[in-house]
Amino acid sequence: MSTFLIPRNIEFGENSLEALKGLEGERAVLVTGGSSMKRFGFLDQAVDYLKEAGIESKIVDGVEPNPSVKTVIKGKEEMLDFNPDWIIAIGGGSALDAAKIMWAFYEHPDLEFEDIIEVASMPKLRNKAKFIAIPSTSGTASEITAFSVITDTENKIKYPIVSPEIVPDIAIVDPKIPATMPAHITANTGMDVLAHAVEAFVSTAASDYSDALALKAIEMVFEYLPKAVSNGDDMVAREKMHNASTMAGMAFSNASLGIVHSLAHKIGGELHVTHGLANAILLPYVIEFNYEAAKEKFEIVEKALGVDSLADAVRDLNKKLDIVPSFNAIDWLDYTEKDFENILDRMSKNAHQDPCTLTNPQEPTVEDMKQIYTDSF
Ligand code: NDP
Ligand code: MN
Repeated sequence: MSTFLIPRNIEFGENSLEALKGLEGERAVLVTGGSSMKRFGFLDQAVDYLKEAGIESKIVDGVEPNPSVKTVIKGKEEMLDFNPDWIIAIGGGSALDAAKIMWAFYEHPDLEFEDIIEVASMPKLRNKAKFIAIPSTSGTASEITAFSVITDTENKIKYPIVSPEIVPDIAIVDPKIPATMPAHITANTGMDVLAHAVEAFVSTAASDYSDALALKAIEMVFEYLPKAVSNGDDMVAREKMHNASTMAGMAFSNASLGIVHSLAHKIGGELHVTHGLANAILLPYVIEFNYEAAKEKFEIVEKALGVDSLADAVRDLNKKLDIVPSFNAIDWLDYTEKDFENILDRMSKNAHQDPCTLTNPQEPTVEDMKQIYTDSF
């Protein structure tokens, strides 16, 4: 017996932001990041559409990349003052993730952060408000997932919060919004989409439902990511990548991930390598590591793409996107072989413990994790 979780509605395609005009309610809190949504006019547009629907808005902005517990608490207080019946998150994965937890605290003001860290410890939401997510990057798929990643900045720990309760009610997947991303963010977040789709497809928790979404998303990334990166105004490519992100998100929110993510989470934490970039570098190595264990699945992907080797096809894709083949080739990474040796043991042990390791098709040892880091460094 299994459950496949998805949002109530996915509004998609150019100008789907206009779906806000049809909302019923009285007050909405809009949660956003630093400045991009304001700068490109999407925030004002959202407020105008809500006004047309007779809904009064309040803005909670300033959510930082890798949002902190402090930011979430501040947002909760502003929500308690305003008493919204809609929470609308518009921005990158950071703004969406932060808004999900502000919402939980707004619904249950006595809740402490410690209370919701355990899997399935989230109380019922939607007594006060429903939740809309409007992604501005085509990558994390927070608009669709049961996940939120919040950082305890004092103890430098990233907490993944997992609950079916925080799957948004409505996702608005409007390609005009991520079309303002610069090329390198498009490339990195796009490779995160590919990692989600490939890992969900070969996951030990994959299902017929997740397979269909994951395989289609893989095909879309190979065809459209190079176009979205080389010409940011190619609206077909932008729309395909935005949809692929959400589809891959539906797949991995249900089927979970594998050790590309386990390894990327820890090397990201230690060396501050952007999540999508770390995934892009690790993906071909992990495909090779998993190949025999999930041979039938990989062959399906290779057949769909018309390639002999998926690992080599990913390497070619990285090259097309100007993504380097190894960590030590990242030009801003100021790190020596010696420094790397020093963190290798800790990183490999931590990556082995990551929850994403549980659904990897080939069960790895700590030594295996070490070997993949060494090969990809
Ligand atoms: P962020 O939300 O962290 O945003 C990164 C940067 O991109 C910010 O400076 C932001 O600017 C800018 N930006 C966002 N959208 C645009 C745009 N359309 N045009 C120009 N600039 C833009 O990036 P991600 O989406 O990659 O999210 C990363 C976060 O998501 C991490 O905290 C990660 O842990 C989490 N995550 C969550 C998952 C989930 O399932 N919930 C899964 C994987 C990762 P500004 O702040 O000014 O808007
Ligand atoms: Mn990811």
